[in-house]
Amino acid sequence: MLKRYADVVETRIPIRGVDGVCLNLKVPGKRPRVIINSSNPRLRRRFTEAHELGHIVIPWHMGTIVDHLDPEHVESSDDYWVFEEEANQFAAELLMPLPWLGDLIESTANLSTAHKRICERCEVSALAASRRLGSLLPENIVFVCQKDNEVEFSGRTRGTLAHAPSWRTPFDTTSFAYATKHYVSTLDTRRLHWWILPDQVDEVSNDPRPWREILDAIVENIGVDVEDRKRFKMSVNGVLSAANSAMKQHGPHTAASVTAACMQRFHDRDDLRSFAAHPNFMDFVIKRATELTQ
Ligand SMILES: [Zn+2]
Repeated sequence: MLKRYADVVETRIPIRGVDGVCLNLKVPGKRPRVIINSSNPRLRRRFTEAHELGHIVIPWHMGTIVDHLDPEHVESSDDYWVFEEEANQFAAELLMPLPWLGDLIESTANLSTAHKRICERCEVSALAASRRLGSLLPENIVFVCQKDNEVEFSGRTRGTLAHAPSWRTPFDTTSFAYATKHYVSTLDTRRLHWWILPDQVDEVSNDPRPWREILDAIVENIGVDVEDRKRFKMSVNGVLSAANSAMKQHGPHTAASVTAACMQRFHDRDDLRSFAAHPNFMDFVIKRATELTQ
């Protein structure tokens, strides 16, 4: 496909992190020339080819563009990153066409299966497939690609409050235990995890105590030192207000949505892990959410 528009050479590019180079873009009388780094894995080269085709067909991409894998090693203009994003978008749409993806998403409730199918059918890397799939899904979804008990990469859909686990950290099998769905499948040596997180938790608390009492009891129960309690309760309050204002801004601002937002925010925080794991955590959150939305 690319060969119809350019002279293509595959060769080992000895500069670290260079995926490809595109020369003579929109130069009158010259045919564009593309160099693909042959030392990259096959799926990566395939994506780079589609990316270079993007540079060739997008009218305002001109001159010579060197494609770097690693943004930190490049000093370049803002335009460069705009062009890169545009070429990546072009490549993603070319390799993973929207009509096919739309059908796939509609017919496959299991997001991990959908992810795997995109990798296999479209011959793209698990990372490229996850980005494309993630960009088309609604909020409150998180994914992790697990390899050798590590998070190889991760992400979340736009508007999701919870953070995805950091790349190249140990994979925690208890991640997102509060999710409403957890889908997993195996792709070669990788495990593809997708979680759907709650966006509405419509529960009531049967605990007769007011929230202040519940909070004091939890803080004491989980063994926070007396002199640290004030500071600890301030961070709890900070997380609560963040969840509440997120729902105020992006609504709906109801007790059920604020409760769900709190679950996503609190489970994100390593320092509040035992707080969120306490049996009365939900009682506290529900009471606070109810009060904040009255
Ligand atoms: Zn590029």
